[in-house]
Amino acid sequence: MCLTGPVAQRGEIRSAAASNLSSPREQLPLQAALFTASGPAAPKEPVMHLDDAAELRRRYTGESRSGAKAELRRLPIGDPLIPRSSGDQEFLEAEVLRGLLEYPSTYTTRPFRVLRVIPQPTGMTIRFAADADADGLTDFVAWGLFPAGGEDDMRGIPGLRLVYAGHNRMDLGLLGTHARVRLEGVPSTSWREIEAVRQRAAGDAGETAPFRHPELTLGERAFTQRHSWLVEARRGTAALGSALLRRLGLFRTAADWHDMAGYTKYSDTFAFRMTFTKEMLTSHGEFLRQLTEPDCGIPVVQRMAACSCATGGTDCRLYLASQPPYEGRVELQFATSWDCSAGEIVEVLRYAGSPESEIARYVPLRPGLACRHDREIHGRTLQFLQGLAGSRRAQRAEVAPTGSAGRGTR
Ligand SMILES: [Zn+2]
Ligand SMILES: [Zn+2]
Repeated sequence: MCLTGPVAQRGEIRSAAASNLSSPREQLPLQAALFTASGPAAPKEPVMHLDDAAELRRRYTGESRSGAKAELRRLPIGDPLIPRSSGDQEFLEAEVLRGLLEYPSTYTTRPFRVLRVIPQPTGMTIRFAADADADGLTDFVAWGLFPAGGEDDMRGIPGLRLVYAGHNRMDLGLLGTHARVRLEGVPSTSWREIEAVRQRAAGDAGETAPFRHPELTLGERAFTQRHSWLVEARRGTAALGSALLRRLGLFRTAADWHDMAGYTKYSDTFAFRMTFTKEMLTSHGEFLRQLTEPDCGIPVVQRMAACSCATGGTDCRLYLASQPPYEGRVELQFATSWDCSAGEIVEVLRYAGSPESEIARYVPLRPGLACRHDREIHGRTLQFLQGLAGSRRAQRAEVAPTGSAGRGTR
């Protein structure tokens, strides 16, 4: 399997990058200079050293230092530090982000479990964190990304297919296109189980499981015909969705939340909800500054803000509109958790497999936090997660009685 798309697509990216250079915001001397520092093309521009460029890029991607440098060295001259995608590839990436935002919250210290993204001119890789909740991750891929439902209740990405699965890696493709997204860190055993669960569920319902089906399923066809306007609208905001996914790492490096969730609104809004303890609440303005940073950020402007920081509020929102060449909106929510919840938050993150060092970074523990709540208020999240894990195990054991369903995943 090759992640590189058709040559024509590469051409589109170059011309897009070239046209960007004519707009004031997109004057990107640093990027141009990075790759032409020794040539005559940019003698008066400031030169960004490869090390500095890699440091900047990895703030947005979460890549390792050496990984970011290797990717930068491979970039065509003139491409931004984080290259833009295009066409079907861009659409698939935006749909993957939509899947991440719409699937229920995951309780990890990584944004939607994502450890790093590796954006390339014609493809991308998403590396998931190795936490303890393998079944939660494969449930997300199977139900949150792959399509389910039909004409009026389609979820996931219509036309998404499995190109390869094995060795804790999956390559996803969009039917009838060259678009590909590689997922790394998806445990193969857990994936085989959930694929069997979905195959059986589809069989029981007289439907076709989408994973390897060579054409659109009846449900997918019915949905895309009836809601073609929605698919078109999502294509209109695909550039923004793809750009956000390619910068998902910023939601970790620039904000000290202990829980992150998301949602989408209408067909054009990508929304991120970050929850902080009071001590760790990230400055909204500082986050926005990094999100819109000229070399690696995205051009968005604040249309409206509902900030209650000054009055001790617990839920602030920024409403952002993207600027050309992007279309669509971004919503950022900065929520604050109760002081007395800190112990519970730590328990939940530990249970879900987040490393101790990560937990300690985002949840400062102070002794003697006063709690005025009824006892039943706390501890529910952990119970909920334990129940969910139990039902996942039972569901998988049903379809794989001789398989690995007895293994001790919580
Ligand atoms: Zn605020
Ligand atoms: Zn309390």
